[in-house]
Amino acid sequence: MDILFENNTKDQIKEAADNNTLLLLPVGILEEHGPHLPVNTDNVIAYDLAIQAAKQIKDTIPVMVLPCVWAGYHGKELENLPGSVRVRPKTLFYYMYDICESLVRNGFRKIAIVNGHGQNPAILQFVSRCIANDYGVNILVTYPMGMIGKAGKQIKTSPEGGAGGHACEVETSLVLALREELVDMTKVPEGDRCQHRTKFFSGDLFPEHDVVNFGYFSTWAAQGSRSGVLGEPKYASVEKGEAFIKAMMQNYKELLTEYYYLMEQEVTDKG
Ligand SMILES: [Zn+2]
Repeated sequence: MDILFENNTKDQIKEAADNNTLLLLPVGILEEHGPHLPVNTDNVIAYDLAIQAAKQIKDTIPVMVLPCVWAGYHGKELENLPGSVRVRPKTLFYYMYDICESLVRNGFRKIAIVNGHGQNPAILQFVSRCIANDYGVNILVTYPMGMIGKAGKQIKTSPEGGAGGHACEVETSLVLALREELVDMTKVPEGDRCQHRTKFFSGDLFPEHDVVNFGYFSTWAAQGSRSGVLGEPKYASVEKGEAFIKAMMQNYKELLTEYYYLMEQEVTDKG
């Protein structure tokens, strides 16, 4: 069995489904990531890290990685920027729902989405909820940058607002560690730290101040980015990227293992 889903034959796929294989489904978007990162950044993060996560568990859990869903959703405020290829929220919902439904019909009952893009989560969670409702299959939705966890605070060095989550210290470090040849550090912009940092909105993946998880709206405009960046990518490095990924992979290993064995018990959705 090849770890890449698409390299297997129909008979191997059938065997994998019969063997309770866990599927990792990467999803991202094509969108601007400042002057120094490619528009494919979120897809690179989702796909490369899904493969790394699969390698963490493959000796103990049967696992395969699907091709990356490369067009996700972002708001209208970004759609006129060069490189933006977005789909409407409902389109992403139906597209992801149909992909997951096909996989369930193929006999797979353990699916973990690895999402590289910050505006996809609510839609992906809705997909998970609907598949659970219709098929009794509970899909796990994960966000690699969120999986760094508390270690991120120790690794980052930019001032508050510098790890804003978009082409920032963290995301740039990740691409440097994954595919350094795609990053042009000579073009890194400065001075686009997230401005909107309050009790309710962190403005940083690893905030120093306490944040009440109160509500949600897109703060893109409020953050006032001039360069298409939210944060301070000048603090990025290969070493930091590797440290973020190390912390992330430890959490992925634990979460995917926990999810796999929880689903082995065929937990029914009581939602
Ligand atoms: Zn991104």
